[in-house]
Amino acid sequence: MASSTNQAIWAQNAAMDMVSLRHDLHQHPELSFQEFRTQEVILQELRKIGLNGTKIANTGVVATILGNRPGKTVALRADMDALPMPDESQLPYASINDGICHACGHDAHIAILIGAAQTLMHDLDFAGQIRLVFQPAEEQLPGGAQNVLASGILDDVDAIFGLHVWQPLAFGQVATSKGALMAAPDDFSLLIKGRGGHASMPEMTIDPVVVAAHIVTALQTLVSRYVSANDQVVLSVTQMHTGTAMNVIPEWAQLQGTLRTLSPKIRDEFPKKMEQLATQIAQAFGAQAKFTVTRGYPALINNPSMAEFALATAADLFGEAQAILSPPTMGGEDFAYYLEKIPGAFVWLGMGTPYPHHHPKFDARDDILYPGIRLLTELALRFLE
Ligand SMILES: [Zn+2]
Ligand SMILES: [Zn+2]
Repeated sequence: MASSTNQAIWAQNAAMDMVSLRHDLHQHPELSFQEFRTQEVILQELRKIGLNGTKIANTGVVATILGNRPGKTVALRADMDALPMPDESQLPYASINDGICHACGHDAHIAILIGAAQTLMHDLDFAGQIRLVFQPAEEQLPGGAQNVLASGILDDVDAIFGLHVWQPLAFGQVATSKGALMAAPDDFSLLIKGRGGHASMPEMTIDPVVVAAHIVTALQTLVSRYVSANDQVVLSVTQMHTGTAMNVIPEWAQLQGTLRTLSPKIRDEFPKKMEQLATQIAQAFGAQAKFTVTRGYPALINNPSMAEFALATAADLFGEAQAILSPPTMGGEDFAYYLEKIPGAFVWLGMGTPYPHHHPKFDARDDILYPGIRLLTELALRFLE
């Protein structure tokens, strides 16, 4: 196997080569499940370094780097999609696709994975194979990960790693958790049916506005009274729709919101508590409530030893202080589906940039490509050792 000096030089060269690719991707962002140009660009870039990519999951790409002898298989995954929002970065390579923006850094993920492939192709003196997975549609439910899994291209994989550039962390820090790293984001809706009428004669009505207000307040007690202090749950009622006029008590009220959980058990049980509380409060006022949950991605739960391996690798590459254990965030990520099937870990790579993810001025930074490339190549090679 090549020396780490060689690996570092190849990674540096690849990082420089990938700057213009990232800018090109940033300028031409595409929405989830519509990454057709992005897919072609990836195939073309892979061809340049001697790899034949295959289309998967409609707009995704897979390619395999074969070592010079048999061994294990490790997968590296990059997501590809952008967001339906304006690009207000005013960069020379700002989006030319109106209302679409690479505001999460997936442009950097693609560039990092291709850069890692370029680095790895310099020396095939390793055992096993490295599967490069360019996955469409992370940002929009149901996500592209399940399609990638259904394609069967990960059936023979022994481990999988994913990386996300992470704005809130200091530049170059690598963080992950030995368990839950990101939440299951589930949405809920509550439809409350009362009885409408004249606002001057509430005694003739069942006022769904009052019922909704009681339910919103009561729901706040579930996290504090039903969930152990050791578990993290977020419940936010984010929308309340009802009424049409000052002098009309409406017939209906609708509440919507999001529930974020880390524990699969609480994820299953909590909505039942919500439903019970809401329907019984509605009943107490003579109204009816219909509760529905729309499930998002499952919680992202790392394999503890893979997370440890990833942090140890990062510590060797960038120093102990740069590899840190992190508490989970309550955001979601469809890499969770891979981790339900395959041992692996998802890691954050700190950027310390000014604007948060999904902000119209968000941009990844060019100098994040090198540590990203270095980390992915090293994770793959060390795992196969
Ligand atoms: Zn995002
Ligand atoms: Zn993202």
